[in-house]
Amino acid sequence: PGAQPLLRVDNLHVSYGHIHAVKGISFALKEGAVTTLVGANGAGKSTTLLALSGLVKAQSGAIAFQGDSITGLAPHKIVKRGVVQVAEGRATLTRLTVRENLELGAYTRHDRAERADELEKVFALFPRLRERADGLAGNLSGGEQQMLAIGRALMAKPKVLLLDEPSMGLAPIIVQDIFRILREINQQGLTIFLVEQNVRQALRISDYAYVLETGSIVLEGTGASLLGHPDVQKAYLGG
Ligand code: ATP
Repeated sequence: PGAQPLLRVDNLHVSYGHIHAVKGISFALKEGAVTTLVGANGAGKSTTLLALSGLVKAQSGAIAFQGDSITGLAPHKIVKRGVVQVAEGRATLTRLTVRENLELGAYTRHDRAERADELEKVFALFPRLRERADGLAGNLSGGEQQMLAIGRALMAKPKVLLLDEPSMGLAPIIVQDIFRILREINQQGLTIFLVEQNVRQALRISDYAYVLETGSIVLEGTGASLLGHPDVQKAYLGG
């Protein structure tokens, strides 16, 4: 970890036809940190993540990972560099077993021993997935499916993990579990970039955060400083 951020976004613009969804945002992900992008529905959070993953095209601006441009790279090449987005929990392959879903996450990696090692780490992190390894993913609860989606992304050995609202649709107690696990993964050294509407919980686990409003970053600071910021409290924390 040096002075240079692991990932840097400079003046990123993304449009869908005439809808200007992301309007020149700049931010950085520090290596080893949890960084969060919070904001209301439609602010452009998902679009930002899709641009990082190469799934939507940047209209202009630059994305650099480990000092090299990844702007315009194909999604699979971005994954290979180590920038890996967690699929939506409900996007697990319900007719495959938990183990098969996890093995699919390692599709870019060829070393068998390394894959087995990674699988073991995921099972250690999510004992519930080990218990249900040979059951169909479709029989998992919503929270377990979210864990499976995270586990599958970890199988690709990410250097930075991107998550789009991992708390969505889950009961509060499960949300707490997911955030606790994200913190744990981070403490093992993984850099995390989280997009969330659940502002309070997200800021609690964030080292640094940005607030996105209608395509622009309007505030940034440490998680703790934003939790205490009057504008954030007024707009997102109900008082
Ligand atoms: P949400 O939490 O609802 O996903 P968000 O902050 O992630 O919100 P985006 O999904 O990035 O916001 O949407 C940003 C803007 O771009 C919105 O105005 C949305 O309607 C628009 N948008 C998103 N996807 C598309 C698309 N495929 N085609 C056209 N407009 C889109």
